Amino acid sequence: LKAGRGETIHGDVTLLEGNKFEFVHDLKKTPLPPFAEVVYRFGITYADKTVDSTADESFQYADNRSTWNQLQNKLVEINWKDGDPGFAQQALDAALDGLDGAQTFLPSISQPGSPTRVYIYPSAQEVQEALQLASYNWVAGHADPWLNSVLVSIPAGTGQKTELLRQIPHELMHVWLYQYTEKIGGNYLALPTWLNEGLATLVERAPNSAYPALLVENQAAGGLLRMASLCNRFPSDPSPAILAYAQSAAFTRYIHQNYGSSGLEKLVQIYADGLECERGVEEAFGITFAQLEQEWITDTFGQQTQPGNSFQATPFLILFGVILLIPVFVIVLRRYTSPTGQD
Ligand SMILES: [Zn+2]
Repeated sequence: LKAGRGETIHGDVTLLEGNKFEFVHDLKKTPLPPFAEVVYRFGITYADKTVDSTADESFQYADNRSTWNQLQNKLVEINWKDGDPGFAQQALDAALDGLDGAQTFLPSISQPGSPTRVYIYPSAQEVQEALQLASYNWVAGHADPWLNSVLVSIPAGTGQKTELLRQIPHELMHVWLYQYTEKIGGNYLALPTWLNEGLATLVERAPNSAYPALLVENQAAGGLLRMASLCNRFPSDPSPAILAYAQSAAFTRYIHQNYGSSGLEKLVQIYADGLECERGVEEAFGITFAQLEQEWITDTFGQQTQPGNSFQATPFLILFGVILLIPVFVIVLRRYTSPTGQD
């Protein structure tokens, strides 16, 4: 039995009555990713020790606890449970729009060979249920790039369209990045988490509007995460995880603005070739990772005093203020009294 990312599982069959036999696979011991294509064959050892096997057969390990509606275009096959076809059409459009967005950052990203299967669950809880069958952690959306499939949760209601525009391009970007790294002969899993998630967050068609303020607040309070800490994983707690997404998107956008699409493609290539997170930046741009991070912070937030320092400096500033007030007062008076004064 071969499933998911190529693991092969062996086992003995049990003979049943009526020339039937069965093989039971324990998903608790060895989980399968949802919607994986499972390839299987039976081997036979005869009494004279010669061996033979059947031809490969396959089936999809689908979540068939309920029926799925289906609609597709060249990019995606939308599978959804509830809602009218107009809802699915919006999902198709979000995918097309997402690819446009992806190509503004990485122009060499191309349409996949076969449509990516997108499963829209009506709640995050149902995605978790589907994923818990395969012992994944908590998520609202999930991509299995090597299976060319994506799971998202879009609850019905007023926020539906926004969630659709956010989650579908985001999860698809992971699939497109995987296919892109395969095409250039690289390793998708070698991409730093901040770059992979940064790019996926940047192609969201309805970005989280809380991100800019979150970044400014954390920068002012000295609470930004070090970018180097986001090379291999994101924090598991929701609050720093959200900040990690916001920072990764902003940092990746900064790279795009300063080094262009060619710079970003070069960086992806270097990482996919296997260069380590901090070395990759040096190789691509000729500056250290720490320098790039500092430039991003300076360019984005300006030269702001750290909160610890500004607190200590407060009495000083008051004193300065008193001294400065006098000349300002004089200047203001002069401006008022000067007949040739100009604004
Ligand atoms: Zn993601």
